[in-house]
Amino acid sequence: MLPEVNFNLTIQSEKIINPTKPEIRRGVIKLDEYRGIIGSHLFKEINSLAKDLRGLKVFHVNATSDGGGVAEILKSLVPLMRGVGLEVKWYNILPCPGFFDLTKRIHNALQGKRIEFSRRDRDLYMRHMESMAKKMEDMRPDVWVIHDPQPAGLISYLPRLCPMVWRIHIDTSGPNKKVWSFFQKIGDDYDRIIFTSKDFIGHGIPEKKIRIFSPAIDPIMKKNESMDLEIAKKIMKSLGINLSRPLAVQVSRFDPWKDPMGVIRAYQEAKKEIPGLQLALLGLLLAKDDPEAEKILKEVEKASGEDPDIFLFSRVSQIGNIKINDFVNAFQMAASVVLQKSTKEGFGLSVTEAMWKGQPVIGGNVGGIKLQIKDGENGFLVNTCKEAAQRMVELIKSPQLKKKMGQEAKEIVREKFLIPRLLRDYLKMFKELVK
Ligand code: UDP
Repeated sequence: MLPEVNFNLTIQSEKIINPTKPEIRRGVIKLDEYRGIIGSHLFKEINSLAKDLRGLKVFHVNATSDGGGVAEILKSLVPLMRGVGLEVKWYNILPCPGFFDLTKRIHNALQGKRIEFSRRDRDLYMRHMESMAKKMEDMRPDVWVIHDPQPAGLISYLPRLCPMVWRIHIDTSGPNKKVWSFFQKIGDDYDRIIFTSKDFIGHGIPEKKIRIFSPAIDPIMKKNESMDLEIAKKIMKSLGINLSRPLAVQVSRFDPWKDPMGVIRAYQEAKKEIPGLQLALLGLLLAKDDPEAEKILKEVEKASGEDPDIFLFSRVSQIGNIKINDFVNAFQMAASVVLQKSTKEGFGLSVTEAMWKGQPVIGGNVGGIKLQIKDGENGFLVNTCKEAAQRMVELIKSPQLKKKMGQEAKEIVREKFLIPRLLRDYLKMFKELVK
């Protein structure tokens, strides 16, 4: 058996000094809790689909239960699927030495980086898939949902007793050809492959297998609940932010594709016009499948130099008794301006989260960000640091513009990127697979 993700944990059990009450990661969430947030049509559609799928055993498999967008989605999607009557479990594969280094290189290659992908790499990957599959051979779901490349190769060794779905969350719009062709062959065995955008559909995947649906955020989780602005400010102040001066924020893992170095350059450029500007980069090192983060963090620390107005958050110990969800929520709520200057982006839940809080985000003109930001309407799409800097200045100097665009931002999230819609898309697909 693989380790199952435990839902009956207190979130961030390590440290909770909660101003309100301890937050429990809930194992079951009822659809009723979204009444008033989603439309009645979607509500009915989900209930009707779920009626026919009651008791369906769906097992999700991914690489990590914390850190990054996939874990974030599963924390809500799994309980919500249970809440409408499915029997859902969520498992993490275990690494072997060197495995997550290799899969991070694979991740980078699938997003377009040139890497060596040697026979040894392929052997290590497949051998590890075989040993993980051995641990899983007695597991009997009705549908497997395998997330991202890390566990994708399991399909080559698992008994084929039920439909299998591969959910690719990353931006595969221009992948390294050699690495893509390896995964395309793995993809051949899957019954469905889900991409976030049409632009990401990799070469050689038969059309009938492809489904397109975008990720979504959970509006009732702590991170996305409306937070009193005064509480948000109190949290930020306790972390050293000067609230009488403007603050730019990016919430992202320290990852080259998130372009933290570009954010620093944009901030430095904007600071010429707004001397009081501060910058906070929130990138707590939580994802155990991202060993590259430490290296990028070092580069970012170097680029920040001695600037006392740049705040880098990478260790949970830095935020003391503040819960991670409150920490992120506060900065997304009360930032003067939010950036997501990615150069490749599978979707960017951080963008969605900030937009839901009424922030018009300045985002890289790439991948999943383009699905969310309509340039000049609900945020800005930028191609360079200079453009990012200009838009920062524009939004900081015009609160009216920020407010107007922020309202549009919230609306598009309500319409397209809340988790009940994602649940609906999965249920629809399950129905065609098990009919
Ligand atoms: N996140 C967080 N704390 C941090 C940095 C990021 O909780 O210090 C969360 C962020 O709020 C979002 C997720 O990590 O929910 C990142 O998802 P996204 O899709 O933006 O990027 P990914 O890491 O999956 O590439």
